[in-house]
Amino acid sequence: MARGDAIFVDPTLSGSVMSELRITGVAVDVIRWPLKMKRRHGVGDIEASMPGAIVKIATNAGIVGWGEVAPWSVFTGTAEANATGIHHYLRPLLVGADPLKISTLMRQIEKTLVAHTEGKAAIETALLDIAGRHFGVPVAQLLGGTYRSHVPLSVSIANPDFEEDLAFATRLSADGINIFKVKTGFSSHKEDLRRLERLRSDLPSTVDLRVDYNQGLDPWDAIRLLKDIEAFHPTFIEQPVKREQRAAMAAITKAIDTPIMADESVFTPAEAIDMVRGEIADLVSIKIMKSGGIARAREIASIAEAAGIAAYGGTMFEGGLAIAAGLHMVAATPNISLGAEFYTSTWVMGVEILKTPIVIEKGSTRVPTGVGLGVEVDEDRVREISTAHFE
Ligand SMILES: [Mg+2]
Repeated sequence: MARGDAIFVDPTLSGSVMSELRITGVAVDVIRWPLKMKRRHGVGDIEASMPGAIVKIATNAGIVGWGEVAPWSVFTGTAEANATGIHHYLRPLLVGADPLKISTLMRQIEKTLVAHTEGKAAIETALLDIAGRHFGVPVAQLLGGTYRSHVPLSVSIANPDFEEDLAFATRLSADGINIFKVKTGFSSHKEDLRRLERLRSDLPSTVDLRVDYNQGLDPWDAIRLLKDIEAFHPTFIEQPVKREQRAAMAAITKAIDTPIMADESVFTPAEAIDMVRGEIADLVSIKIMKSGGIARAREIASIAEAAGIAAYGGTMFEGGLAIAAGLHMVAATPNISLGAEFYTSTWVMGVEILKTPIVIEKGSTRVPTGVGLGVEVDEDRVREISTAHFE
């Protein structure tokens, strides 16, 4: 080639570059988490135990990646559907593939199986874990690097026994936790006001109080009721009405001074565009279990950022693997700036499947710094709570 010639890169050739790594196995366990707390929400209650699933992807290099399916049947999907969806439809396309081609694999997965966002999130998490371990860097580094090493922790007030929750919040507040999200809309408005009044009077005045209805209000009187809630100066009010009642979300956002957050109304990047166009919220809650993984969650964060909408790191009922994935995402995504509720593996799930539990310190959750997800799985613990195994 003469000096000065343009270098021609054949896109079909560059697309076929592969590493020596190959996926050799995909195993899924449906599990049942015992729970240490009862939780009550506008969308449904949780008590005693909760289904989930754990995904393990093995490679020919001995590197293993882990991911977690954290569904909630009234919100996203089911553990059983995700586990069998992965086993019957996604495992065949993963085994034999190069695990480093994450974008290619996730695109094939989207074309193979609709919905099942929690299963897709688990597979993407496991692939990122493998890539991080292969390159010797944390997942956050693969996503652009650590913008924040700690994520301010928001703890939800959702115990049907409010006095127990108040004592818990008082203890946490003394420990430096400053953000509390009150779940409302599951009993009476009067009871919601009473709980907010007690929290405001018993907790320090500097506490950042937030309110989440989980779709619990009816559109016809939501604005009137929310005007009472504003008296307690919440930082935001989350998802007051049903996810599909977008006109009501827009009317509430216009009528209420307190910022309104969309959670159930925004699962996908397309719904995030619709949120911006329809002006249905001031803020958005981002969860990898809703979007189907970190890449799509960050698309939502970018759409929101371009529209001046700040994001919050939400969770489902997640064990340590899902929390670790969320932590790496929030660490590398500046616009997810309103903190996150990364505490369920510590205080809600009754079994710890990590040998290296998630660390909460000084009112924040610490982003793991090791390679991959930066956490190690105790496989015996997974087996103990497994109710079905596929591989
Ligand atoms: Mg919510």
